Amino acid sequence: MNILILGSGGREHTLAWKIAQSPKLNSLFVAPGNAGTAAIATNLPMGVNDFVAIKSAVVENQIDLVLVGPEDPLVNGVHDFFLGDDELKHIPVIGPQKAAATLEGSKDFSKRFMARHSIPTAAYQSFTAETLEAGKQFLETLAPPYVLKADGLAAGKGVLILDDLSTAKAELEAMLTQAKFGAASQTVVIEEFLSGVELSCFVLTDGEGYKVLPTAKDYKRIGEGDTGLNTGGMGAISPVPFAQGEFMDKVVERIVKPTVNGLKSDNLPYCGFIFIGLINVDGEPKVIEYNVRMGDPETEVVIPRIQNDFVDLLQAVAEKRLADIDLQIDPRAATTVMAVSGGYPEAYEKGKEIKGIQEVEDAIVFHAGTMSEGDKVLTNGGRVLAVTAYGNDFKSALIKSYTEISKIGFEGMYYRKDLGFDL
Ligand code: ATP
Repeated sequence: MNILILGSGGREHTLAWKIAQSPKLNSLFVAPGNAGTAAIATNLPMGVNDFVAIKSAVVENQIDLVLVGPEDPLVNGVHDFFLGDDELKHIPVIGPQKAAATLEGSKDFSKRFMARHSIPTAAYQSFTAETLEAGKQFLETLAPPYVLKADGLAAGKGVLILDDLSTAKAELEAMLTQAKFGAASQTVVIEEFLSGVELSCFVLTDGEGYKVLPTAKDYKRIGEGDTGLNTGGMGAISPVPFAQGEFMDKVVERIVKPTVNGLKSDNLPYCGFIFIGLINVDGEPKVIEYNVRMGDPETEVVIPRIQNDFVDLLQAVAEKRLADIDLQIDPRAATTVMAVSGGYPEAYEKGKEIKGIQEVEDAIVFHAGTMSEGDKVLTNGGRVLAVTAYGNDFKSALIKSYTEISKIGFEGMYYRKDLGFDL
């Protein structure tokens, strides 16, 4: 098979690494990719939202299957674009169509979906500029902290958690009437605050059957002890120690099954990954959010624990035979530590030479923001690379991730040294 992966992060390098191990693979392409994918696949220099360029590449390279990494092209309708094109419609796209991708693209849509299918989540109401005063009154009925969410995609920045009622009212007004998050905050979801430990559950579905993939926990803040600004993710651990037994039974019965069945009964065709952001509130799982693709850096610990041939799995999704597959999971834990550019998530420099990748022996280096220049590898983004290791438990895996990442260096390199501190 010839396979095209869309995207350029650590997630896509991990997917490429896994697919490249399959004897069923003929040629692998990544658009646009990074220095890591260039070493195991052919990078195609095009944007993930440039559907016309993607079509040319698919036709020219006789692609048999497309795997979409990030949410943007899904929310923009890349799957629908394939279905609507005579030359492309027979090629399976792993990733939902635009209608179902709205689960990530609109928080109001996803809250209504959860309400309709009785999926446990925070109580909420949605408001627009016309209902601003009602929104302020609703805030008065809630206890702090107040959770305000821009409805649309806001690059992970559209959620405000505020302790003070008058600040919450002012922010609501700025979001609704001054386009604080652009068009994304034309509608704002106000939610009950939930207190607990967060984790992510990943599901692969073909719209009928589904497989629950390993759980993971990521670390979002730049600073140790979960302090400072939010980032794309500074590392991850899989499995999550408390996500087992009765808790996972609740996740499957109350959340995974109603989600897959709800997509079907709402006539939202879905083949691909569902990322369910969960919070454990005193042993009761509740949904914080849906994403319509794998997480990054969670992919870097979830995918390496899947032992099945990955092309087999993707083909089963495309052919709606996922229910027949026996999913095999590596019992070992996996951890990943992300190295970032100095200054990230604020301003940072690119183009720094990365040294020491070859010295890594007992871990896998997944590239994120990297590029090749001759035989050098240079930094090319905020999150630069992720070092994934296995261990009998997450603590022993983390020791390896940390030992191996210390062999790598570039000017300004930073990583958190406290992952797992809260488990
Ligand atoms: P992401 O960057 O994770 O995609 P997002 O912008 O899509 O974020 P959410 O995941 O809905 O938004 O919220 C971001 C974060 O805010 C969550 O990971 C969680 O830590 C916190 N959060 C969201 N909703 C709640 C809630 N109801 N109670 C407590 N914390 C919440």
